[in-house]
Amino acid sequence: MEIMKATPDVQLPSPFTGTGTIKNPATGSIAGEVRWTDPADVSHLAAGLRTAQKEWEARGPKGRAKVLARYAVWLGEHRAEIEKLLIAETGKSAVDAAQEVPLIIMITSYYIKTMEKALAPESRPASLPFLAIKKITVHYRPRPVTGIIAPWNYPVANALMDAIAALAAGSAVLLKPSERTPLTAELLLRGWLDSGAPEVLALAQGAREVSEAVIDNSDFVQFTGSSATGVKVMERAARRLTPVSLELGGKDPMIVLEDADIELAAHAAVWGAMFNAGQTCVSVERVYVLESVYDQFVAAVVRAVEKLRTGAGEGHEFGALIDESQVAVTERHVRDALAAGATALTGGERPAGSGNFYPPTVLVDVDHSMACMTEETFGPTLPIMKVASVDEAIRLANDSEYGLSAAVFSRDVEHAKAVAVQLDCGAVNINDVISNLMCTTAPMGGWKTSGMGVRFGGAEGLRKYCKQEVVVAPRTNLGAGGNYYNNSLKTLNRMNAIMTKLALIGPRRSAK
Ligand code: NAD
Repeated sequence: MEIMKATPDVQLPSPFTGTGTIKNPATGSIAGEVRWTDPADVSHLAAGLRTAQKEWEARGPKGRAKVLARYAVWLGEHRAEIEKLLIAETGKSAVDAAQEVPLIIMITSYYIKTMEKALAPESRPASLPFLAIKKITVHYRPRPVTGIIAPWNYPVANALMDAIAALAAGSAVLLKPSERTPLTAELLLRGWLDSGAPEVLALAQGAREVSEAVIDNSDFVQFTGSSATGVKVMERAARRLTPVSLELGGKDPMIVLEDADIELAAHAAVWGAMFNAGQTCVSVERVYVLESVYDQFVAAVVRAVEKLRTGAGEGHEFGALIDESQVAVTERHVRDALAAGATALTGGERPAGSGNFYPPTVLVDVDHSMACMTEETFGPTLPIMKVASVDEAIRLANDSEYGLSAAVFSRDVEHAKAVAVQLDCGAVNINDVISNLMCTTAPMGGWKTSGMGVRFGGAEGLRKYCKQEVVVAPRTNLGAGGNYYNNSLKTLNRMNAIMTKLALIGPRRSAK
């Protein structure tokens, strides 16, 4: 029997056209309105940025640093206003909202201090004596338009962490915030312009269609979001061979060794797992504890979790999840784990009532057959597994498709460091969690499906927004043209024999 096609192939209109209403995830009240960008307009936005970028580049690092400094001051002065909007748009607790602006001011301050040196042309020595007649300089030239596609979990930090670095490098920025949190970005842009900065920062508001137009019209794409979307971004960018930097999902492990300060480790695990209601790429998503200290650790974790007060805004530590889909993933991970034999020592069930809340949930009797230990939850779960040895902890920590960051707790810091370098991920914090994000001098970036390239930090975090241009100039005009067709084959062979002899001095020595 032929199956009738029930519905014709219709292209549904995008819900992100005209004006949209953003609701507070904690209360359902209206947080604000946004005007969605028509994807067809993105090329005009990019063209405007491309024009303005020329003057921005010409200001040089010193001139741009002044503008960034004024913006940092604006951010500091408007912190309360930004955090109020952040809470309304995301349902965060006040404690969580309080982290974003200070982090960005700290990062901006670091770039202001270091950008001139990081972007200065670099002289490179000649590799062989006969090349000493050449002066070799590497110039860092900004990519004209950087497209930044951001997630919703930290609307200030995840937008500006990258935008400030790209702007410092001399690029113009086309920022596409998450369609779930477009409002904070509008305020951040207003601040950029109010602080007297030129129009080298613009917003494209919308979802996938607008993202794709941003990718198509940028010279470099900085994407932060899930690993699945990261693949799509890279595929789209490949059409024009546009380079990408990807900051993706994580399933960060924590290892608690026998000699750890258990109270400290438990407190860190709870904060690392529950901060921002678990919606942090570098949150603690699973813990491996040596069996001799397991009971003590679990008891301390439960005590700390029970003290958390749930609700958005002030007076609470633990806020709402962004939307129903995020609650659904958390519910599935917990439900499946419980069905497979896990035990919830706290939470474990969605409370009745309104708002996208899910309680902080500590799970024990878990293993790697469960999604809560292998898939990114991005919600308030803290699964804890007992292990018999350090080697088992390392093996399980590395048994993941992700590799963003990790934590190791031990009073023997040297031993913890030895464990750290056996973990396959971009950063390891010892006796702490998430603190590598504050270390602005070091590169931050994930391994495996957690990312590609360096997100921010150090000179690498600025130079990624630049192309490298090598200028080779003569130190003297003596010998100019010595390698052209005016040489006879005999002279050429003689010259090559000398060059080869010189180049082989090192290898001959090393080969002995
Ligand atoms: P997401 O991948 O759903 O969306 C991220 C952005 O991509 C949004 O702006 C969205 O509009 C856009 N987008 C959606 N589909 C697209 C497509 N086909 N092509 C191009 N762009 C598209 O992620 P999310 O739910 O907003 O954020 C949560 C994820 O982000 C988690 O996996 C988390 O771990 C990750 N994250 C990583 C870091 C990090 O530094 N590694 C930081 C924060 C968040």
